[in-house]
Amino acid sequence: MSIPIHTYDVVIVGAGLAGSTAARELEKAGKNVAVITKLHPLRSHSGAAQGGINAALSDEDSIELHEFDTVKGSDYLADQDVVELMCKEAPKTIRWAERMGAAFSRNKDGKIAQRPFGGQSSPRACYAKDRTGLTLLQTVYEQALRAGVKFWDEWYAADIIYKDGKVSGVVAFNIRNMEKAIFNAKAVMFATGGYARSFKINSNAHANTGDGLSIVARHGLPLEDMEFVQFHPSGLSGNGVLISEAARGEGGKLINSKGERFMDKYAPNKMELASRDVVSRAIMNEIREGRGVGPRKDAVYIDLTHLGKDLIMERLPELRDLAITFLGLDMIHEPILISATAHYSMGGIPVDIDGHARKNNSEFVEGFYAAGETSCSSVHGANRLGANSVLEALFFGRHVGQSILKDLDSLTLREADESDADTMIKEIETTLTRNGKYTVPELREKLQQSMTDNAGAFRTEELLAKQVKIVKDLRKQFHKGCRIDDKSKIFNTDLQEAIELGHMLDYSLFIVESALARKESRGAHFREDFDTRDDKNFLKHTMAYMDEDGEITLDYMDVTLGKHELKERTY
Ligand SMILES: Cc1cc2nc3c(=O)[nH]c(=O)nc-3n(C[C@H](O)[C@H](O)[C@H](O)COP(=O)(O)OP(=O)(O)OC[C@H]3O[C@@H](n4cnc5c(N)ncnc54)[C@H](O)[C@@H]3O)c2cc1C
Repeated sequence: MSIPIHTYDVVIVGAGLAGSTAARELEKAGKNVAVITKLHPLRSHSGAAQGGINAALSDEDSIELHEFDTVKGSDYLADQDVVELMCKEAPKTIRWAERMGAAFSRNKDGKIAQRPFGGQSSPRACYAKDRTGLTLLQTVYEQALRAGVKFWDEWYAADIIYKDGKVSGVVAFNIRNMEKAIFNAKAVMFATGGYARSFKINSNAHANTGDGLSIVARHGLPLEDMEFVQFHPSGLSGNGVLISEAARGEGGKLINSKGERFMDKYAPNKMELASRDVVSRAIMNEIREGRGVGPRKDAVYIDLTHLGKDLIMERLPELRDLAITFLGLDMIHEPILISATAHYSMGGIPVDIDGHARKNNSEFVEGFYAAGETSCSSVHGANRLGANSVLEALFFGRHVGQSILKDLDSLTLREADESDADTMIKEIETTLTRNGKYTVPELREKLQQSMTDNAGAFRTEELLAKQVKIVKDLRKQFHKGCRIDDKSKIFNTDLQEAIELGHMLDYSLFIVESALARKESRGAHFREDFDTRDDKNFLKHTMAYMDEDGEITLDYMDVTLGKHELKERTY
């Protein structure tokens, strides 16, 4: 059966804030753009962002302070040229979003309201109640549709066409009926989102299985800084569903079983609004030392009762609903139970400041770009500040769209042929026909539980080495003996979940191998056996490569330093 080949100027995988924004930018400039997305665009995880988007707008704030906070938050691993660009463009990005129709919350003077967020010198997070991401995503998606972007939704991108150092398309199948197609283009951009789903307790949507990362890595291309996974301080106890930092921004207090407001021990100045890695470890430490609360003593309280009903209903209505639904606790009347949850991926597909994907430390892949959470331009370094990633997705989505536009004339179309789909077809066939004793939910549960236990907020050589072995064993079990029961063609979610599990296993190995080799503590990566930052040996980005046998090799790349000099990080 022949496979249709669709030809576009640009193909973008991912319809969250980064993908949809880039697509609109290119289509408005008269280019022919396709967006492939495994979800309906409005179900992308961007729509779950609650708390806000940063920009230095007020008179008390400045772009330089925003840069400083971001670099300090990153534990000095961020590339400072990229930070400067994003912070400088943040106010324009807010005004641009507003002009396109995004309705931000306002203060009494009618100006865009801003709330404090962790690690920030000034209230800087613009918001639309606690539904900031959804407001922005609806706006950008509408405008992309209006410009004429073609969205291929519920299509699963399974492979890139990568030959002779150049990417010239994407291979995908229709989740509805297993129809297959090749999308041939001069330029391809990945905006496939984050990878926290490989942890048991996480705040991410089910779709955040990091497919884009291993699709790229399986071609021998590098992934950068994969060890840096952010653990957010406030996931609902037991399931990790996010209670946004807005809760602490509005004045939430963290309390242990002794009734102590314990952050004064860990961050006496910033208290609950220290950066996320600091607050997460403080919470986990209270629990480990026996001062946890809740039925399993594995949580702490966040108390918002002093804010009063009116403020909670005005600014945190979504959070209140979540706590009632999942815990049966109403934050207006009682404290709610939270603990740290895997939340955000600092690492990803290495790109330069204009979104060009790297082949190695010095070369680039022709025609290939990435933006948003799946990319690593290293704007967040070792730890991202709250409300900087919606900004990253929105700003870099647009910026990389413009960068592709500049490059397009010099890029040539290499015609695709049917054999370009061979790898995907083989993957589908193997997944459908493989027989064995293991099921997808069983292997996925083992992966997620062991990642939370061994590669979580506290790491050691022993735990990480153990986890490398576990992931390698799980990969073997998956490839030899993972079966699925549904063999049909209509909405075969068994098949899709098996393919996604293959990706989760691959990139999890990058996380643990990179973490094992980084013998220091920096930002979100905390090693109990090397509990301080070691700038002499580790002020560098990890670049990891996977070979055909699944073995990882590590290399390192310089950090772009700048005017913000290295300092010890205290809050
Ligand atoms: C609960 C929650 C709350 C958050 N709150 C905030 C906040 O208040 N402020 C902030 O700055 N950040 C926040 N973040 C982080 C921020 O929302 C994300 O980092 C950002 O929105 C990511 O945007 P994106 O466009 O890169 O990816 P996403 O919005 O995740 O989109 C990924 C897209 O890729 C597609 N895709 C993936 N794989 C495939 C495939 N194989 N084939 C086809 N399509 C594929 C998906 O369909 C989707 O369209 C939050 C995150 C979470 C989880």
